[in-house]
Amino acid sequence: MSNHKLADPSYNKQEVSQMWETILSCLPHWFDNITKDEKKMRKKVTQRYANMTLVGSMLLILLIPVWRRLAQRLHLRMEIKTNIICIITLWTAITVGATTLQSQNDLLVIAKRLGRIPVALMPALLLLTSRPSPLPTVLYLTLLPIHKWLSRIVVIQGLLHTILYLFYFNHKGTMSKVLKLENIYGIIAMVAFILIAITSLPRIRRIAFKVFYFTHYLMTWVSVLALYFHARPGIPVFTSINILILVSQIAYRVHYTTLTKLTVTPMSPTLALVEFPINSIARSMELPVGHVRINNKHRGLKALWYHLVPFQHPFTVSSLPTDETVKLIVRRGTFPLISNHHYYITGAFEPELAFIHSKAKKNKSVRQPLLGGQFGGPMDYNITAERVLIIVGGSGISFGLPLYRLLNYNGISVRLIWVCKDIRDLNILNWFRGIQGIECYITGENDIEVDYYDDQKHGLDAPTIEYYGSLDDDASEIDFTTLGREYKEAHNIGPSSPLSLSSPHTVLTPMPSLSPLKRVPKYDSAPVKKVPSFKRLAQAKSVPVLHPDRLLDKPSTKSLNFHENIHIATSGQCSFTTTPPHLAHLPRSELPEFEKLKLPASVRVFSGRPNLGAEDYDWCTQTSCIGPRIEHGKSVCCRDVQDDGAHKRVNKENVWVIGAGPQGLVDEAGDWAKEGGLRWHGESFSV
Ligand SMILES: Cc1cc2nc3c(=O)[nH]c(=O)nc-3n(C[C@H](O)[C@H](O)[C@H](O)COP(=O)(O)OP(=O)(O)OC[C@H]3O[C@@H](n4cnc5c(N)ncnc54)[C@H](O)[C@@H]3O)c2cc1C
Repeated sequence: MSNHKLADPSYNKQEVSQMWETILSCLPHWFDNITKDEKKMRKKVTQRYANMTLVGSMLLILLIPVWRRLAQRLHLRMEIKTNIICIITLWTAITVGATTLQSQNDLLVIAKRLGRIPVALMPALLLLTSRPSPLPTVLYLTLLPIHKWLSRIVVIQGLLHTILYLFYFNHKGTMSKVLKLENIYGIIAMVAFILIAITSLPRIRRIAFKVFYFTHYLMTWVSVLALYFHARPGIPVFTSINILILVSQIAYRVHYTTLTKLTVTPMSPTLALVEFPINSIARSMELPVGHVRINNKHRGLKALWYHLVPFQHPFTVSSLPTDETVKLIVRRGTFPLISNHHYYITGAFEPELAFIHSKAKKNKSVRQPLLGGQFGGPMDYNITAERVLIIVGGSGISFGLPLYRLLNYNGISVRLIWVCKDIRDLNILNWFRGIQGIECYITGENDIEVDYYDDQKHGLDAPTIEYYGSLDDDASEIDFTTLGREYKEAHNIGPSSPLSLSSPHTVLTPMPSLSPLKRVPKYDSAPVKKVPSFKRLAQAKSVPVLHPDRLLDKPSTKSLNFHENIHIATSGQCSFTTTPPHLAHLPRSELPEFEKLKLPASVRVFSGRPNLGAEDYDWCTQTSCIGPRIEHGKSVCCRDVQDDGAHKRVNKENVWVIGAGPQGLVDEAGDWAKEGGLRWHGESFSV
C-alpha cells in the first residue's frame, strides 16, 4: 500500500466501513428478498432439524441405562457438579447446533428454529418426568436433574424465539400480527413456560411445594395444547407423542393405585409409624427401600382432580419386601396421616441401588455376588457390596433400617449410624427386628429415662458388631463418640463434638493410638457384651412417649410382648404382630402414653454428633469374613480361602457408604466417602 493512500483519511474510513460490512454479513441478519423456492427449502430444512432433534433426544434418553453401564465398566465416577456441567454442555450443544446449522445466517430462519426445536424437545422433557421411569433399572428421581436443565434450555429458547419475532415484526412494520389468534396461543405457551420456570426456582419450590407442583403440571398441559394451535406448519406428531406420554401417566397411576386403610402410630413428637397390609400395594416390590406415593381420599370432582394431577407424597418402605405389613417411618409434616382413614397408595416404585439386584437377574448381566445370594430364602439378593456403612439422619432411618436388616441377613458387614435430635425417635426401633448393633447419636437435649431390655434372647439371626475400648459400664468413663479416649485427648475432641465428616486422609496419621479401639465383627447371635450405660442421657425427669410396653403393664426389664409374637414362617417369610391381640380394637393413635423410653439393649446410643474419621475408614476397608463362600462351585468357610486372614484390605470398589436424610448430612457423608475412594449412594428425600 502506498504512503499516499495511507495518509488519505477518506480512504481509511472506507476501509473500516468495508471491514464492518464484512463482519456484519457474517452475523445472522434479516434477509429481505427471498424467493418462494428458497422459502420452501428453508421450511424443509427446519422441519428436518426438528425431526432429528426429536429422534436424537429420545434416543439419548432411552440410552441412559447403556451410558450408565458403560461408565461403571470404565470406572467413570462423576461428581454431581461435573455431571450437571456435562448435562448443560451436551443439551446446549445439541440445541444450538439444531438451531443454527444450515441457517445461512438468516435471522428469520433462526427465529423459526428457536420455536421449533423446543417443541421437538417436549416429548423428551415429558419422558424424563414419567413415573416410574420407562428406562429399566433407572429410578425416575435420578432423571430429574436432566429434566430441570433441559427445561431451562427450552424456556430460554422459547423466550429468544418470542423476542426475535417481535424484532422481526418491528423490522417489517407488521407489529399488529402479534394479535393474530395463532400468535396469541404462542404467547399463552410462553407465559406457561415462564410460570413453570419461576415456580421451579429452588426457593419457591421449597417454600410452596404444592404451588410449584400444581403450576408445573397444569402449565405443562396448557403449553402442550397452546403449542399445537400456535405452531405453523402444524405439529400433530409432536403433540400426539406429548399427549400419549401424559395420558399414559394418568392411566398408570389409576391402574397402580389402591384405596387402603392406614394405621398410624405416633412414635415420638416428630415421627410416626404408618402400616398397611402388603397386599394393598398394586405393584409388588422386588427390592428393599422402594417407595410408595400416598394421597388423601377425596370425593366427587376433587377425587377426579387428584387422579389427574399426580400430586402425592412419597415415603420409603421401611419394611422388607418379604414382610406381610408395609411399614413407613414418616416425619410429621403438613400432610395429615390419620389412623384408620383411607388413603390412595400408588406404587411401589423400585429403588436404584447399584449393589443390590433382585434374584430374577441372577446369571444375567449382573456380576456374581461377592457375598449373599447363598442362603436361598426370599430375602436372598445378588449383592455386590462387601462392606456397607450407612449414615442416616432423622426420618432417613426409613431408608437405613431395611437396608441394614437385609444386608445383615445376607452376611454383608454393615454398620448403621443414625443421627437424630430427639431420643424419643428411637422408640421406632422397638417396632423392627434385626436391628442389633445400630449406633444412634442424639444431638438434642434429652432428659428422658431409658430402660434397656434384652432383645437378643429371641434368636434373631442378624450378626452384630462388637466394639471394645470406647464403651465402659462406668458412667464417668463413658466415651460418647466412636473415637477412643486416647485419640480424642491427642486431638482435643470433646465428648460431643460437632458433626465433622472429615476426610479419612486427614486423620489417618495418628493410627497407632486407635488400636485399642479396634472393632471386632461378631458372627454369632449371642447378646452384646458391652452396652453403654446411659446415665448421662437418662435423667430422672420423664417425658411422655407412647410405648406399647406400658400397655402391657409388664416390668420394664422384660422384653416387649410384641417381640414374642415374632415368627419365621416356613416359607422363610418373616412376619410379626405389632399389637397385642386384646388391644387390637384400639386405634393406635389413642394408645395411652408411657413415661420411660424402652430400648433394645443391642442398640447403641451416644450423645452428640458422630465423627467420621480414620476409625470408620479403617472399618470400611477391612476384609469381612462372614459365613460360607462359594469357591469353585463348593461352599467353603471364607476363613479357609483367605490366605492372609481377616485383616486383608477389601477392594474399595466393593465398599459402599450410604447416606439418607437431611441434605447437609448427605452431602458431607458423600464428600467423606468420595475422598476416601469409596462407593457412594445418597438419598436426600428431596426433588
Ligand atoms: C423418594 C422419596 C422418599 C421419601 N421417603 C420419606 C420417608 O420415608 N419418610 C419421610 O418422613 N419423608 C420421606 N420423604 C419426604 C416426604 O415425601 C416429604 O417430606 C413429604 O411429602 C412432605 O409433605 P408435607 O405436606 O409435610 O410437605 P410441605 O410442608 O408442603 O413441604 C415441605 C417439603 O417437603 C417436600 N415435599 C412436599 N411434598 C412433596 C411431594 N409430593 N413429593 C416430594 N417432596 C415433597 C418439599 O421439598 C417441600 O419443600 C421422601 C421423599 C422422597 C422424594
